[in-house]
Amino acid sequence: MTPVYLDHNASSPLHPAARAAMLEVLDLPANAHSAHRAGQHAHEAVEAARRTLAGVLDVDPTRIVFTSGATEANALALHDRGPWCASAVEHPSVLVWASATLPVDGAGQVVLDTAAVHPGYAVMLANNETGVIQPIAAVRAWTAARGARLHVDATQGLGRMALPAGLFDADTVALSAHKFGGPQGVGALVVRGPTAAPMLRGGPQERGRRAGTVNVVGVVGMAAAAAASVGAHAALAPLQEALEGGVVALGGRVIGAAAPRLANTTCVQFHGVDASDLVMALDLGGVQASAGAACASGSTERSHVLRAMGIPGSALRLSTGPSTTRADITAALNALTGALKQMERA
Ligand code: PMP
Repeated sequence: MTPVYLDHNASSPLHPAARAAMLEVLDLPANAHSAHRAGQHAHEAVEAARRTLAGVLDVDPTRIVFTSGATEANALALHDRGPWCASAVEHPSVLVWASATLPVDGAGQVVLDTAAVHPGYAVMLANNETGVIQPIAAVRAWTAARGARLHVDATQGLGRMALPAGLFDADTVALSAHKFGGPQGVGALVVRGPTAAPMLRGGPQERGRRAGTVNVVGVVGMAAAAAASVGAHAALAPLQEALEGGVVALGGRVIGAAAPRLANTTCVQFHGVDASDLVMALDLGGVQASAGAACASGSTERSHVLRAMGIPGSALRLSTGPSTTRADITAALNALTGALKQMERA
């Protein structure tokens, strides 16, 4: 039996369009900065990828700095020009740079009520554990009124929602290819105006904003996946409806249900059930899901996201993607029914 993969928020499998585009450049021998023809060919592949990605995001290509992923993109945005105030539900790769936090309400949306003014704020587009979407336009207006910078970690947004108008009015926006069907280990920071100081120095790549040989295959895959992700969220919404109908019928409580959420993420609690135990039972039943973020699995600490929302206990995260089918949802609900029964007996 092929397992049902419902952990796209941890990493979404390579999209066929990304795979095909990557295979085309896999054997290119050159460094995109070499002067000879092979180098020029690699350079053209990188610049074509930059233009494709820029077209999807509707930004000028010169604003894109390719990185090794969103962790690096967040660090590049935040490593200087602080102190930063971040929403309490940010990914740890943002929180490590913050010296203050903005609270969220019980539905997981940021509360813009702090009196203190910080030079910069970091508020994510959508949460990786709950899928709760932040009101980025309102946040942008609020930070602009305070003369503050805004960084948006948009890692979980592409392909799971229509990107909000004005998203790239933020000073910096972080992306990661492997969340939308591109390869792991590549991402981007979209910058507006003068950038933060480079973190990686010692080369002219990316207009001096990020030294190091550009990952040609990676950025080509990322751009192809981004192009394929346009409008993909529409197909996920009916799957989510079916999944959540089933989950609620099983007695589950959907976290963040009162807020707008990504079309691919269902974070759910079952009374008295430990989410890590449920993840193990589901895995044995052929369904791959997670309890909160993959980066936090193995840790015994409670989710900082649930804590910030004032929600006790742990929660199961089911996240879908372009490869998810109706049959997967049915199989997942059957496995969940079995796992919950088994845990009741134990
Ligand atoms: N931000 C968010 C919201 C994420 O979900 C993740 C991945 N879990 C990251 C940043 C880090 O991304 P990457 O794996 O590309 O470093």
